[in-house]
Amino acid sequence: MFVVSGPSGAGKGTLIRGALSRTPDMAVAVSATTRARRPGEADGREYHFMSRAEFARLVEAGAFLEHAEFAGNRYGTLSSELDRIMETGRSVILEIELQGARNVRRVRPDCVSVFIEPPSLDELARRLRARATDAEEEIAARLEVARTEMAARDEFDHLILNDRADRATAALVSIIEAETA
Ligand code: 5GP
Repeated sequence: MFVVSGPSGAGKGTLIRGALSRTPDMAVAVSATTRARRPGEADGREYHFMSRAEFARLVEAGAFLEHAEFAGNRYGTLSSELDRIMETGRSVILEIELQGARNVRRVRPDCVSVFIEPPSLDELARRLRARATDAEEEIAARLEVARTEMAARDEFDHLILNDRADRATAALVSIIEAETA
């Protein structure tokens, strides 16, 4: 199991999508979230979107491998997602924030953890604003969390600086290939 973490806006999603097209034996787990759907996102593809009541019910039922609160919303990895992927004989990539990564490391100490680092906090702010799907207060909340996340980067097995997407994607592919060899 691979855990890919790093601040919102660091480019985790783009790098994972790029790496997946070159690593057929991997699949990314679709998380559950209470955050509102952004334009272009589809339920069951980017996330399983749900109400806070539904999320709480699943927590209560023990349906999550891990879950966390991030910038005012809840996010979690459903154990059923992992089963679904493992049934197809593939390995799982989790794209999750810091608390979730810590929780997964606790319950799955054999996981391989990767931290995606943006070139700077200024560049991170620029990328989050360029996404233009989030309100300014949402962006501010994400930047605030980013400082804490950056301070934890040494906890991870691998560190990738995402200054150029092609090079960073190649680095992620190399890590996956080396760790699964
Ligand atoms: P976004 O709202 O930008 O899609 O995601 C916000 C943050 O939540 C990102 O850092 C993302 O990686 C993280 N995240 C997405 N799914 C999960 C999950 O299942 N668990 C945890 N802990 N974090 C997640």
